[in-house]
Amino acid sequence: MDNKLMHIYEALLFNYGDPLWWPAETPYEVIVGAVLTQNTSWGNVEKAIANFGDDLSPETVAEAEIEQLIEIIRPSGFFNQKAVYLKAVTSWFSKYNYDVSTVQREPLEKVRAELLSTRGVGPETADSILLYAFEFPTFVVDAYTMRLCSRFPIDAGKGYASVKAHFELNLPRSVKLYNDYHALIVMNGKEYCRKRPICDGCPLADMCERSGL
Ligand code: SF4
Repeated sequence: MDNKLMHIYEALLFNYGDPLWWPAETPYEVIVGAVLTQNTSWGNVEKAIANFGDDLSPETVAEAEIEQLIEIIRPSGFFNQKAVYLKAVTSWFSKYNYDVSTVQREPLEKVRAELLSTRGVGPETADSILLYAFEFPTFVVDAYTMRLCSRFPIDAGKGYASVKAHFELNLPRSVKLYNDYHALIVMNGKEYCRKRPICDGCPLADMCERSGL
């Protein structure tokens, strides 16, 4: 275990409290959000999700004409591609009869491999879906995580798989911990560890070497 990772987690948790992520009402909404958030802000995702009204379900997406879907998700940008991706991930979910507990009974690596072979689903999207929709213990790595690793620094290697493995090998295997940790990194990345960091007031300032800054 790497105590550095736990110290970072504790400092972030102390500062921000329990993040209560992911901001969605149903597991399927998590899936939709994970696809729509690619290359756009969460605010745009919220506008797209709001366009579904009370009708955000896998059945609705499966039955919708692609042109209809494009209009609904237009605020999220890259709507032509994302409509195709939503259809693809919904088609994958249909193999489980849109039933969360059926997916959860499968081995994590099998479901992860299926998602990764689904059009438009890369490692970050797959792990977000696995962790936040289905509560599998898989660590989500994003640009904020990479930035924190390079600045702190955390010697997690380069690339998605290496950083994910480093966190998983050095933290207790816990859905709640992985869930909160990723959320807290994102919160701190938005608040302080931005492209141009605001180190004054950052809850990690006492520990961080600010490598390369
Ligand atoms: S102290 Fe600065 S560089 Fe380090 S995590 Fe905080 S904002 Fe980022």
